[in-house]
Amino acid sequence: MVLIGPPGAGKGTQAARLAAHYRIPHISTGDMLRMEVRQETPIGLQVRDRLAAGLLVPDALMLGMVEHRLLQKDAKQGFILDGFPRSPYQAEALQRLLERIQRPLMAVVQLIVPDQEIVVRLSYRRCCSLCGKTYHLMYNQPQREGYCDIDQAPLVQRDDDREDAIRTRLQVYHQQTEPVVDYYRRTPLLREVHALGDVPSISLHIQNLLKGAAA
Ligand code: ADP
Ligand code: AMP
Repeated sequence: MVLIGPPGAGKGTQAARLAAHYRIPHISTGDMLRMEVRQETPIGLQVRDRLAAGLLVPDALMLGMVEHRLLQKDAKQGFILDGFPRSPYQAEALQRLLERIQRPLMAVVQLIVPDQEIVVRLSYRRCCSLCGKTYHLMYNQPQREGYCDIDQAPLVQRDDDREDAIRTRLQVYHQQTEPVVDYYRRTPLLREVHALGDVPSISLHIQNLLKGAAA
């Protein structure tokens, strides 16, 4: 399945829960790119500035990474894509790739959250500097202030969760990614979810919607 929605809609939060529930990998293209940046690989050095500014990275690079990841063994029984596709070009390329490897999508879940709430969610988001787990300074606090519950590493703010990058990312979402929702609206795959409210209720709602998804 694909999870789609604006930055800060809760895709990573929900994908982690759904991945545990269905025992399939959560594939976040943002996490994959941030790992490249952290490890200062050639790809990381190439994309670092675009990530920090909130701009999309080149399609060809992203498609290569996604294809490589989807062909790994753990994705054989299914996968949750978070952050991909982000443009109609990527959606069409994904469609061709999945046809080629004979793994059709079962559902595309759109998380709907108004822009004002996005700004609140992103400005207060903090992530573990080691494992990447996400917290929120008001809605989802760590047990010990400033440190991750899992590995006690310090929490940090993402470079692209600063005010100017948040504005850019929202613009990029409306201009380049919303047309992907229209693309899937023309198929039977799209499920719309109003993603305000508590995290477990939203997960349950998604699971209920997926019960009706075609295999
Ligand atoms: P995305 O992956 O779509 O960018 P995240 O899952 O990282 O979004 O969520 C963005 C921020 O909002 C995080 O700080 C997260 O803890 C918080 N958050 C996620 N879901 C909810 C929710 N239902 N209500 C309030 N805050 C939420
Ligand atoms: P995310 O973690 O999904 O918010 O993504 C963080 C950043 O990674 C985005 O702002 C883009 O710079 C880059 N990125 C992630 N996924 C894609 C994608 N599918 N296409 C292009 N850029 C992406």
